[in-house]
Amino acid sequence: MTTQDLPVVTRDGAAADGHQAVMVPLNQRALVPTQPERIRRIREHMVRSLRDLRTLKQPERNASPLRPEPLGFAGTVARAACTLCQGFCCKGGGEHAYLDERDMARVRQARPELEARAVIRLYMERVPAEGYAGSCVFHGKQGCTLDRSLRSDVCNSYFCNGLRDFVNTADGAASVVVTGVSADGETRLSPVLTR
Ligand code: SF4
Ligand code: SF4
Repeated sequence: MTTQDLPVVTRDGAAADGHQAVMVPLNQRALVPTQPERIRRIREHMVRSLRDLRTLKQPERNASPLRPEPLGFAGTVARAACTLCQGFCCKGGGEHAYLDERDMARVRQARPELEARAVIRLYMERVPAEGYAGSCVFHGKQGCTLDRSLRSDVCNSYFCNGLRDFVNTADGAASVVVTGVSADGETRLSPVLTR
């Protein structure tokens, strides 16, 4: 794509040539090797979550749901936005990834053949050798290393403000340009996305 192909985006986020603008933040963190201390902490968190599952009342009923991605054009825009942004919102995931006993109930119900130790191993194998400094321990260069079935309900249901506003009102937009803006003013634009 050349700069001539890029739409002009005004200061308030509206695309100047008729495309709807969806504003998202940008992850600017550096990639660094994953420290053993972080692996130890996520392992401890997994052990705790699985232990808490033992005392969860009615685990069948209280398991977190596996929420689907948005469908259709909303899904196309959401995927483009998160790819452009590279996971700004994952910064809060630390060494817990928002996983809890309700997520463990869902994972264990979906994989009844796995013992607790095997579930922990499943997660530990997903910790990337290199990840974004200070972000979630599963936040690798290509994005989240967990598929949706292993992610927390928090992760599967979260959208940042700009994306959530679009997903909730996607019906009206014929074409969209996702605009990522960082705190220090770096700007990235997606290609024009059409239905
Ligand atoms: S939900 Fe928003 S902040 Fe999170 S990765 Fe997607 S675009 Fe970025
Ligand atoms: S588990 Fe994945 S989606 Fe959730 S915070 Fe970590 S990297 Fe982000």
